Amino acid sequence: MARVDAGALWAGACDAARRVCEAVGVRLHRDGSRRDTSRRHVAPNLGVHDIAIDLGTANTVVYVSGRGIVAAEPSVVAVDSLSGEVQAVGVEAERMIGRTPATISATRPLRHGVIADFAVTEQMLRYFIARAFDRRWAHPRVIVCAPSGVTEVEKRAVEEAALAAGARRVHLIEEPIAAAIGAGLRIEEPVGRMVLDIGGGTSEVAVISLGAIVVSRSVRVGGYEMDDAISHYLREAYQLAIGSQTAEAIKLQIGSAAPLADELTTGVRGRHLVTGLPTEVPLRSEEVREAIHAPLEEILRAIEDTLEDTPPELAGDIAREGLLLAGGGTLLPGLARLVSARTGMAVTLADSPLTCVAIGSGQALEHFDQFATRLPPRR
Ligand code: ADP
Ligand code: MG
Repeated sequence: MARVDAGALWAGACDAARRVCEAVGVRLHRDGSRRDTSRRHVAPNLGVHDIAIDLGTANTVVYVSGRGIVAAEPSVVAVDSLSGEVQAVGVEAERMIGRTPATISATRPLRHGVIADFAVTEQMLRYFIARAFDRRWAHPRVIVCAPSGVTEVEKRAVEEAALAAGARRVHLIEEPIAAAIGAGLRIEEPVGRMVLDIGGGTSEVAVISLGAIVVSRSVRVGGYEMDDAISHYLREAYQLAIGSQTAEAIKLQIGSAAPLADELTTGVRGRHLVTGLPTEVPLRSEEVREAIHAPLEEILRAIEDTLEDTPPELAGDIAREGLLLAGGGTLLPGLARLVSARTGMAVTLADSPLTCVAIGSGQALEHFDQFATRLPPRR
C-alpha cells in the first residue's frame, strides 16, 4: 500500500472504525444477528483495558486498547496427557510439535478457523489474556475475530471459550471486516471492497460495502495445505518423509506462486522411505511451485466464484478499487502477481498481513460501548 503519514493514517482509521461500528451496529440491530455475550456476575471494570484477539488457526495476535499489539504467537498448546496440565503455549509449544515424548501432546486447538478442542482453546485464551495483563485473573472485555464462514454453533463456541478463559464480555467480529479496517479501507462507504485473507487453515474472500459483508466464500485451504502439498511432493518424487515444520520452512525459504527472477534451490533433510536413513536432497523453487499449484488453484477459484456472485454495481467498484490481500499466506512471493493476472484486477498487499486483522479488531475496540449498548446482554 502507498506509504502515508502514520498519525494521519491512524486518525483516519479510528474515524473509519467509528463509522463502521455505527454502520455495523445498525445493520446487526435490524437483522437480530448482533452478538453480545456477558458474564453473569460482572465485576466492575477494575481498570483493565479491553482487548482484541485474532484467534487464528496458525497464530493468535493480541491487541490491548491504548497499547497496541502485545502478543503474537503460534496457536499451539502442549498438554501433559496424564495430568491434563498445560506444559507450554505459543512459541515454546510450537517448538515441541513432533518432538514430544508419548505423555505430552503439542497440538493446535483450532482447525480450519474453528475450535476443534474446546478445553485446550480455553486454556490458550487464558494464557493470552493473562500475558496481555501480566496477571492471572484479568476480566477484560474482549473482541474476538471469527472467520465469516463459520456456523452459529462454532461462533458460540468461541464466545464460550473466551468467557470461560476470563473475559467479562465478548463480541465477535468477522475476520474480513477486521482485516479491511486494519488495512485502512473505508468500508463504511457505499462502495464495494474486496478482501482475500489466506490463513493457516482457511482462505476467505469477501466483498464488503456499508460496513457489512455482501458476498463471501470461505475455503478450507490455507498455508498448511500448501505445506502438506510440499510434503506429498517430496514423498512422491524423492521418497523422502519430512515433518510439517520442515515443509513450512521450505515454503518460506523458496516457495512462490509465480516465476521468480532468480529461481532458488535448497537442501531438504528427511528420512528416506525405502532405506529408513536420514537423507538430504536438493529441491528447486520450480518444484515447490508445482507442488502447491492445487491449493493455490482452489483459492483462485474461490475469488472467481465470489466475483460471479457479486452484484454488478459492487463488481464495478471492485474493478476500480482492486483487491486487498491479508493473512500470512498472502506473503508468498508472486501471489499478488498471480491473483492479478488471473482476475485482471489491481491487487494490494496489506502493510502488515499477519497483524492487520488484530489491528482492525483493536480499532473496533475503541467503540466497544457502541456495540454493547445497542443490544441488551444475553441471559
Ligand atoms: P491464521 O489467521 O490462520 O492464524 P496467519 O494469517 O497467521 O494464519 O498466517 C499463517 C500462515 O501464513 C501459515 O501457514 C504460514 O506458513 C504462512 N506464512 C507466513 N509467512 C509466510 C511467507 N512469507 N510466505 C508464505 N507463507 C507464509
Ligand atoms: Mg487469520
